[in-house]
Amino acid sequence: MLTKWLWRFATERDSWWRKLIDIKYHNPSSIWQTEKVRSGFSQSVWANITKEYDLFWKFASIDPGNGTMISFWHDVWNQGMVMSSAFPRVAAAAADSEARLSDVASLNGELVSWSFNLKYNLRGGAERERVDLLNFLNNIPMNNFALSPCRMVWNPDPNSKFSVRSLYRNIVLEKLPGMLDFPLKQVWKKMIPSKVCFFMWMVFHNKILTVDNLKRRGWSLANRCCLCCRKEESINHMLVECEFVMEVWSYINRVRPVASFQDREVKLIIKHSPHSKPGNVGEWFRDCILHAIWWFVWLERNQRVFEEKKSNAGGVARRAARNAMEWLVAHGQIDKIQGEAWLHELLLIR
Ligand SMILES: [Zn+2]
Repeated sequence: MLTKWLWRFATERDSWWRKLIDIKYHNPSSIWQTEKVRSGFSQSVWANITKEYDLFWKFASIDPGNGTMISFWHDVWNQGMVMSSAFPRVAAAAADSEARLSDVASLNGELVSWSFNLKYNLRGGAERERVDLLNFLNNIPMNNFALSPCRMVWNPDPNSKFSVRSLYRNIVLEKLPGMLDFPLKQVWKKMIPSKVCFFMWMVFHNKILTVDNLKRRGWSLANRCCLCCRKEESINHMLVECEFVMEVWSYINRVRPVASFQDREVKLIIKHSPHSKPGNVGEWFRDCILHAIWWFVWLERNQRVFEEKKSNAGGVARRAARNAMEWLVAHGQIDKIQGEAWLHELLLIR
């Protein structure tokens, strides 16, 4: 990851490569980062690396220590903020835009006081901004001020050590919450049609439009499961608890015990479903029967709701088993004759 170089630039003060980069892309405002290189004709490696600065400073910061190496206005030295961006009108009025933190802050006994050395008196909105800035500064912890040297801090790590792994985890967690938990291999299977995999994805994220989900979106509906006509419909009821779906499973398990679930919740069932490299027909079948049964139970439910047509659990079990086998044959996992024989045995018995 390119971001690693930004960390190294900030921390490896004496290395030769850093000195070279610093000569070429020197940032007069900060010793912790180079100038952001604009992409132009010369698309250098470092230009690409500096594109990551915004991301980098989301997770990195500088412990100001005694403040002598911190640009008060331009470095990210507290709470992830750059003062010149957060308080631009005060920054514009500052006599020394390159002032160090130690020039602006001074220790009076136990208190830190602030002096911005402004070129002119501020008025109106700019003055309010100055008061806000003072308020902000008076509320940030400055415990270490003047006590320790400046140092880089990698916020996601308790020991402040940068790692690509922690960066990756934080990017993923920030952009796609729950992504690390998602059972990719159990949901997206090559031999299963993508619309069925997508349905499983929707099930996992509780997004399919069962009556309870429609009600949550403000629809006013009587909530009754149309498969058993007894309980309220929810994804978990329809696919796990409903006696109709249990009957579907029992048709298949009676002949070939392909699945038994310890879990009673769709997310956990998906997570714990097999995703190994299957060998024989039975293993292949086991690998895609969960998708098939849930998909055909869902189609059956929709048929009852929208077309007022009805099949029994045996019919749904046969449809699911046949289709699962056809997916496997179409994808070349097993040959047609072998699949038919296996299916024949499975479906002969009621
Ligand atoms: Zn039901």
